[in-house]
Amino acid sequence: MLGRIMADGEVAKALISVLERISAASIARSQDVVSLCSKPRLVAVSKTKPKQMIIEAYNAGQRHFGENYIQELVEKSNDEKIQSSCPDIRWHMIGPIQSNKVKKIIESPNLYCIETVHNAKLATTINNAVKKLLGDKKLKVYLQVNTSGEENKSGISPDKVGELATHVVETCSNLELLGLMTIGAFDHDLSKGPNPDFQTLLKCRAGVCETLCKEPQDLELSMGMSNDFEHAILVGSSNVRVGSTIFGAREYKK
Ligand SMILES: *Cc1c(COP(=O)(O)O)cnc(C)c1O
Repeated sequence: MLGRIMADGEVAKALISVLERISAASIARSQDVVSLCSKPRLVAVSKTKPKQMIIEAYNAGQRHFGENYIQELVEKSNDEKIQSSCPDIRWHMIGPIQSNKVKKIIESPNLYCIETVHNAKLATTINNAVKKLLGDKKLKVYLQVNTSGEENKSGISPDKVGELATHVVETCSNLELLGLMTIGAFDHDLSKGPNPDFQTLLKCRAGVCETLCKEPQDLELSMGMSNDFEHAILVGSSNVRVGSTIFGAREYKK
């Protein structure tokens, strides 16, 4: 139900149910998929949701959280209550990034990774900011790929991913290439077969591995959301980003 306030304990209950579904989907994977990645990580997407819900999920054992909007990431990661209640929280930036806001993202306490690097210029900007602000530290990044070709989705086109990965590995010494990320089309009907956007991301990984002489196990795939995370895991996702199934439907101001 839209805008419903979740009662005490409901976030923890929903989280546990999602974790059970992740386990079941991991067990159901074929052997060749299993060999490419271990059990996927859950990123709880808390965008637009209040800090009490984040703390409740943290207390239930969740560590990785995702935010879409820079301002919200900055506010939540700097929030005193969240910092004291969730000392081991790990933030994933999963939304669009404006270059002039990169510094704010990098300075967010407990930032774990940026999942939305989609061109060489942005990669270089982030790399330089990390070098300047964090010194020798490396920041984990995923390259976002526009697998569905939709104009309203950001991400690099699949045929350019190898080039961008090479740029990151060869010229961005303060970035650690963790893997590839995609959103994909929202309306894929799974009864018609595997999501072609996830298949495209798998192909992108194969290409990048060939270009960089890496093994597929060395490059994660961030794919799968509330409506398709089990399918994403079955075909090889290493990182699923689940929001509304854990925290309830989001309500946006009109
Ligand atoms: C909002 C969002 C999610 C989570 O979406 P749900 O459908 O609520 O699970 C995952 N990934 C990205 C990039 C998002 O913006």
